[in-house]
Amino acid sequence: MATLATPPPRTGLVVVQALRRKHCAECRGGPVPLLVPDNGAPRCLDCADLGHLVFLPRGDTALTRRAREESSLSAVVVRFNRRRSRYERQGVLVEEAALARAEERCLADAEARRRRRVRDARRRAAEDVRFTDAFAAEIRRLFPACPAERAREIAAHASVRGSGRVGRSAAGRALSEVAVTSAVVASVRHVDTPYDRFLMDGVARHEARRRIAGTVDRRLREWRGTG
Ligand SMILES: [Zn+2]
Repeated sequence: MATLATPPPRTGLVVVQALRRKHCAECRGGPVPLLVPDNGAPRCLDCADLGHLVFLPRGDTALTRRAREESSLSAVVVRFNRRRSRYERQGVLVEEAALARAEERCLADAEARRRRRVRDARRRAAEDVRFTDAFAAEIRRLFPACPAERAREIAAHASVRGSGRVGRSAAGRALSEVAVTSAVVASVRHVDTPYDRFLMDGVARHEARRRIAGTVDRRLREWRGTG
């Protein structure tokens, strides 16, 4: 097993979490939880002039990086993993003021990200309105006799973001005739026929569709102005 006197292969200051009860080679204090390796004579943080640093556990990479940037003195804290036979990073020791500054920078980032999310949501909402308008217009072009209110309703339903409905598919985005027509068919099926009730009653989907096919066709012909 590697001893504490064997420094892990790292650049910069390294502090080791003691696995066994160890005492400082200089002040004889201890046992100390953290030791600074020094040629076979590990020292406590105070004797190594690192006693004023605070421990920041690993986990938050941005905070860690910034805390080290802000800190004129910092050290990496490692612990020897016996099973894996290697030193593993546990966190860093940094100046308390540096940690505070790093935390402020991360908070500022979080606030900036929050503001960006709000802007993105507003932009998406605006895009959705434009998309719904275009979709409704296309429904009215293909089905001139479809009531405007109904076309609007179908378009809004079809363009609900993230719903996976036809309006959000690539074809729907492109407002292809197939996509627009299938959104209209879906609406007619659910609103103007007993399709949903058939499904609730346990009628198989293809059988339910067969039963309502005539009604759907009539409604589409009517809305196309060819009924
Ligand atoms: Zn000491």
